[in-house]
Formats: sequence, C-alpha cells, structure tokens
Amino acid sequence: MGKWEITRTITTDVLVVGGGGAAARAALTAYQTGAQVRIAVKSPWLKGGSTATAFSELLAIAAAIGHGDERDEPEIHYQDTMDAGRGFIHPELVRTLAEDAPKRINDLIELGLKFDKQKNGKLVQGMSDFATYPRTCRVNGVTARHILNIIAKELKKSQVPVDEHMMVFQLVTDSEKRIVGAIALDMEKNEFVFYQTPSVILATGGAHHLYTYGVGTPDMTGDGYAMAYQQGIPLVNMEFVQIGPGVINPPVTLLSGPVWKTQPILSNQKGVRFLEQNLPPGVHVKDVNNHKAFPFTISNKSFYLDTLIQRESEENPSPNGGVWCEMAPGSEAIVEEKMPKTKRVLKSKGIDVHSDKFEVGLVAQCMNGGAQITTQDGETDLLGLFIAGETAGGLRGPDRPGGNSLAEGQVFGYRTGKAAALYSLKQDSQLPSQEFCSKEFQSIVQWVENSQNGAKDVLESIGELRRIMYRNCLVIRSEARLKEAWDYLLQTEKDLEHGKYALTLDTIKSALELRNMIITAKSIVLAALTRTESRSCHFREDFPQKDDANWKRSIRIRKTDGTMAAEMYEWPEEHSKIGAK
Ligand SMILES: Cc1cc2nc3c(=O)[nH]c(=O)nc-3n(C[C@H](O)[C@H](O)[C@H](O)COP(=O)(O)OP(=O)(O)OC[C@H]3O[C@@H](n4cnc5c(N)ncnc54)[C@H](O)[C@@H]3O)c2cc1C
Repeated sequence: MGKWEITRTITTDVLVVGGGGAAARAALTAYQTGAQVRIAVKSPWLKGGSTATAFSELLAIAAAIGHGDERDEPEIHYQDTMDAGRGFIHPELVRTLAEDAPKRINDLIELGLKFDKQKNGKLVQGMSDFATYPRTCRVNGVTARHILNIIAKELKKSQVPVDEHMMVFQLVTDSEKRIVGAIALDMEKNEFVFYQTPSVILATGGAHHLYTYGVGTPDMTGDGYAMAYQQGIPLVNMEFVQIGPGVINPPVTLLSGPVWKTQPILSNQKGVRFLEQNLPPGVHVKDVNNHKAFPFTISNKSFYLDTLIQRESEENPSPNGGVWCEMAPGSEAIVEEKMPKTKRVLKSKGIDVHSDKFEVGLVAQCMNGGAQITTQDGETDLLGLFIAGETAGGLRGPDRPGGNSLAEGQVFGYRTGKAAALYSLKQDSQLPSQEFCSKEFQSIVQWVENSQNGAKDVLESIGELRRIMYRNCLVIRSEARLKEAWDYLLQTEKDLEHGKYALTLDTIKSALELRNMIITAKSIVLAALTRTESRSCHFREDFPQKDDANWKRSIRIRKTDGTMAAEMYEWPEEHSKIGAK
C-alpha cells in the first residue's frame, strides 16, 4: 500500500493521456516535432480502449483518396459529413478532417501499413453509411488494431516512454488558466504522480463502460470528458451515444449491418418471435433486417429491431438480460458471405452460429459527443490543453459517416501532437513545482479523510450506475426514465462528496472512476432530457418526432457556478472552400 502524497514528479514537454489511435498518433508527431513526449495510459498499453480492441465485420478508416471511385475527393467527404451532421458540428473541423485524412493514410502506408489492395495496386475502399462513394480503407479485418500497432512500433523505436496502469485524473492549471501539469494514480504501485508539463493532449477515448454492456474494455469510464468538464470545457452532443445489438454472453461482440442481412431469428425468453408479433402493419421483418446498420437510428425501419430488443429484454429477458438469436435454417452460405469474421470471432468465444442459440442485447459502442475543441489543432479554451479522438467534440453530430472516427484519431492526433509540441517548446517560464500541485491534491486527501466512516461500496455503485444507464438512457428514452437516472446520479454524487463511501487507498481508483462516470453520465442524461425531440440515435418515446424548427442545433453541457447546466449552441457558418480558415 502506498501513501497519501505525491511521491514522484515526472517532467515532460508534452503529456499524452491515453493509448489508442489518437494518442499514439499525437505522441509520434510531438516526438517528430522535437518535443520530449510521454504517454500515460490507464490500461496495459495496446490492450485497452476501442482502437486496440474494436471488432466489427466492416471496421475501416475513411479517407477520400479516390481509389474506390475516382470521383471521390475531400470536398465530397466534407459534404457527406456535413449532410450527416449539419447544425451539430464545426464546418472548419470537418474540412480539416476531409482534407487531411488522405495525408494520414499516406503516413500510415509510409510506416509500412499494408492496407487491403485491389489487383491494380490501388487500395480497396468500401461504402459506408452517409458516404456518396466507397471511401473506407481496411487492413485485414481489424483495421484499427493494425493502425495502432504500426504507430506503436515507431514509438518504441523512438523510445517514447509509456507509463502503463497510469490513470490521469486531474488537470492542474495556474492562476492564468494555463496547463501546468496533471495528477495521476499509478495503479500498480498505488502511488500518486505529478506530471509537470505545459501541455496535455487528452485522448482517453469514449465511455462505453457507463452501460451494463459496452463494446470495449472497462477502463472506458469517460475520464477525459470529466477532466475537461471540471476545467470548464463544454461537452457537446453528449446525448448522441451510438448503441446497437451485440452478443452479450460471453460479452461482447458487436453485430454490425451485414449480420442482419442473413435474416437471423430473434425470440424472447418465452420462445416468442417478438419481431413478427410487434411490427406495425405493413412493416416486415425482412425490411427491418435489411435496413439494419450499426448504430440504432430512428431514420429507417431498423428502428423496430433495436427498440423491440430493448422492450423484450425488459419484459421477457434471457438469463443475461437480452433476447435469443439463432441463424435461419439453410443460411450457411449467406452467413459465410455476409459475416465470416463475426462467425469466426464467435467461434473463438465458444459459439457456433450454425448450431447454437446465443444471447443478444443492446451494447454501447461509441460516443458522438465530446469535449469541445475550438481550433483545427484540437486546442481548447484552456491554454495548453489539446483534445483528440473520441474524446474531442465538434466533429460528430447525431450521425457520422462510417470510418470517420478512426480518421479523426489520425488527423487530430497528428495536429494536436504538432501543435502541443510547438506550444511547449516556446514556453520559457518556469513551471510550478510539485508543491504547487500538492494544494490541488489536498482536495483529494480531504475527500478521502471525510470518508473515513463511510459504509457504501464504490464497486456496487459503479454496477448500479451502469444498470441505471442501461435501463433509462439506452435507445428508448423518456422524461420518466431519464429523471430516474438523473436522480440516482445526483444522489450518488452527493453521497460520494459527503463521505458516505468507504474510501481507502485501495478503493481510490474506483472512487475516482465513479466520480468521472457520474459527471459523464450526467452530461448524457441532461442533454437527453433537454432534447425534447427524436433524432438519429436519440429517441424520446414522449417526443417521437424530429423537430428541425426547434432542435437542429447542439446542446452544450458546462459547469456553471459549480453545477451542471445545459445551453443551446449554434456552430459557425459554413465556408464554401475546403481548407478555408
Ligand atoms: C466495435 C467497434 C467498432 C468500430 N468500428 C469503427 C469503424 O469501422 N470505423 C471508425 O472510424 N470507427 C469505428 N469505431 C470507433 C473507433 O474505433 C473509436 O472511436 C476510436 O478507435 C477511438 O480512438 P481513441 O484513440 O480516441 O480512443 P481509444 O482507442 O478508445 O483509446 C483510449 C485510451 O485511453 C486510455 N484511458 C482512458 N482513460 C484514461 C485515463 N484516465 N488516464 C490514462 N489513460 C486513459 C485507455 O486505456 C485507452 O488506451 C468502432 C468502435 C467499436 C467499439
């Protein structure tokens, strides 16, 4: 057991927080720009987060390089992304994404990444949702992991230090609101560490662990959103969480669009084929399945698939809280054609899709919301704080074209890495020492001291929070459901602040996670409560219509006088030329 004090100070020009695609790209670019850079990652490196672990039948990265169709170009990528998110995203950020994505694909090729190729040597590019032309590039089925591994190889060669099992939990600023460091918990040694640094790049990914079932690793507790929020950075579009069906036992394998084209059969615990029984007149199971893509959307007939899975999971649940799925008789050939990789992955987890029934439920996959970045270099309202990847807000609205998230990680990882390095290298004032940060750290010590007599169990509350979010803030939302979640979150927050939990050095990691989960979950619930309409992946059963007149704009969540508040937000006007400032 360690001590209630900061035992180490690590000084660096740039601290990159996170270990996924965005973080790796940021660290490599900061290093190449000449800065001393260090990565702090909560999980064992290359084992946590989405980039390292994501699997789906169509995992791919978007870039308008025109190999799939020579008419494709960045301007069309820009337009497609704006069409999916107009009113909810920053046009200049989208331009940057569209324009830079091909350059980042080139970098990856130069690093040695072997994208799947056509016979003529050009890259294979697939169609994705919201794309006019085939635009997504792949590597051997698990594109994201290959991207991360090739950059990681370079980082190792360059000897960029990586601090594993390091949970960064607090940003430290000076009186002029500039970043001067960050505090972290070394989870292996149970020790606190001060990173003394003029710039921090937050690339902590998403928050799927807020839900009972999420596709990903348990380290994804929304820490980046919470840290940014605590510093006054607004969170945008948080109500838009990407959710859809996946196999939940063993947890969790995402079932993407092609899987549903095989027409699998769903039944509830009583053996009732509930889709057939509950679809409105004129809507057929086949249409529903054929429209199904990941994630949930209100925009087509696949709406019934996800919402009916949720209803049956609540009313007639399978043992693990889902429904049953089996492949249709005689579907061997189409299964092999449409979902060969999913079949193999499930086989490796002990499920033979041809002979076994398996449990399917809704799973959280990805956050479209994020902490708002204000420039094309991923800067924020706080000097020295940069944000990239899934943690960054302003590029994904209610919908996003498939493949954009991985592209964002590369484009804004690169840009934040370069900008943070240049920013740090020109700082010449002395950074405050560990003693300065000790003052900030005292609030944590105080918090724990106040909790000496607490009795509540942090891990139990984390489980309960995830169940409450799963029940009330999944694909079927309503004022009543959301208020139940909100009340629970407020009460838990109060209990945590007021010493009701048993906190020790051994439970502090989970307590910090619970604190971050509460902030992130509250931001999602408050935005979902505020948005009294339905749109894309946000469905309010009490406001089922899309309402462009009132709601074609973002909701921002920010800390106002110490409490969380929602405000409407209009993005800047669109410019006509790509690359325009
Ligand atoms: C199943 C699945 C399929 C997907 N398919 C696609 C697709 O086809 N195309 C596409 O573009 N996108 C897809 N996505 C989304 C995409 O994979 C992610 O948005 C992207 O990988 C996120 O990268 P990132 O670097 O921002 O975060 P991640 O890769 O999630 O990495 C986050 C890192 O932060 C670390 N971390 C978290 N908190 C802390 C902390 N407090 N301190 C230190 N470190 C911390 C974690 O350990 C982890 O290493 C998919 C996602 C999933 C789950």
